[in-house]
Amino acid sequence: MTNIPFIDLAAQRRFLGERINTAVNRVLDHGAYVLGPEVAQLEQRLAEFSGAKHVISCANGTDALYLVLMAEGVGPGDAVFVPAFTFVATAEVMPLVGATPFFVDVRPDTFNMDVASLEAAIAAAKDQGLRPRMVVPVDLFGQPADYPAIQAVARKHGMLLMADAAQGFGGSLDGVQVGNLGDYTTTSFFPAKPLGCYGDGGAIFTNDDSRAELLRSLRMHGQGQDRYDNVRIGVNSRLDTIQAAILLVKMEVFADEIQARERIARRYNELLGDVAKVPYVVPGAQSAWAQYTLVVDDRAHVAEVCKAAGVPTAVYYPIPLNRQTGYSCYPSVPGGVPVSDALAQRVISLPMHPYLDDASQDRIVAAVRLALKA
Ligand SMILES: *Cc1c(COP(=O)(O)O)cnc(C)c1O
Repeated sequence: MTNIPFIDLAAQRRFLGERINTAVNRVLDHGAYVLGPEVAQLEQRLAEFSGAKHVISCANGTDALYLVLMAEGVGPGDAVFVPAFTFVATAEVMPLVGATPFFVDVRPDTFNMDVASLEAAIAAAKDQGLRPRMVVPVDLFGQPADYPAIQAVARKHGMLLMADAAQGFGGSLDGVQVGNLGDYTTTSFFPAKPLGCYGDGGAIFTNDDSRAELLRSLRMHGQGQDRYDNVRIGVNSRLDTIQAAILLVKMEVFADEIQARERIARRYNELLGDVAKVPYVVPGAQSAWAQYTLVVDDRAHVAEVCKAAGVPTAVYYPIPLNRQTGYSCYPSVPGGVPVSDALAQRVISLPMHPYLDDASQDRIVAAVRLALKA
């Protein structure tokens, strides 16, 4: 019995055939490895897809978050509100600029930032003498966060909204694409993300002309008129031309891939909805289905039975960020983050990618049902 891959990048590569090789060879021939023509073409393509006015590509999704903090001058004394239940990069960038990540709880249904918890965290931050500067909702597992409600709270307190859409790009909310739902949106092209390249990559989306120009300068050593005019402190964070060329090919099938993920997620829901808590997607939202995640009581047992059946599973995320050694010194909302704590004990993700065939999915479902004795 063969093992089923958790994410089958090889299947996508077979499907795209020679197109990727041709695109990479074109870059090898023209030789503009850094900020070559494919980089601007990709930024244009991502802007069209998302509806955002500007797209600034960069070296990875973590840098994308960091560059926005730099562009906004976020620093010491500033509180930036982040969910406790997310990948570490969401909170990693605030200490890098001297700001304070402030942990907020998530909702039990969507796993995304809880607005009531955010409000409580803002009040606590003010009491602690911190200045509320920014909120960073995450599109966890691909579902867009509750942007309308979070944006309203952000406006009320004079804060900016940066969407961490590393997992959510390709999704939408009430017909608006992710990328066009906050003051800034950031994403990642890490291979396992819904839109992944063959290495590291990231991008920032914004509708603000002057901030877009500033971000282009910051990703390029703070350059001014030309390469040897350095008008500010910046970083070196560019997307490789080869990765941009690969992503341009992947963009040709991206919308179809999101549809395929949706079909596969629905099929999982139908086949598992009676035995496990399956993902809930709010009305009007399209998830990018970065992960398909169940909530179960005995996660270790499900993982073990699946493993014996050649079915890989994964846990995103086993420890909320406020409990991580490097982060326990930063503040959390009063009362803590009980929903994040509970989810961290009970979530388990199943194989999910656009090329998952019905036979493989049936094997995965059979293993999960066996584990849950259904
Ligand atoms: C992957 C991820 C990032 C970081 O992206 P990299 O490209 O790996 O730096 C940030 N936030 C979330 C929620 C992620 O899943």
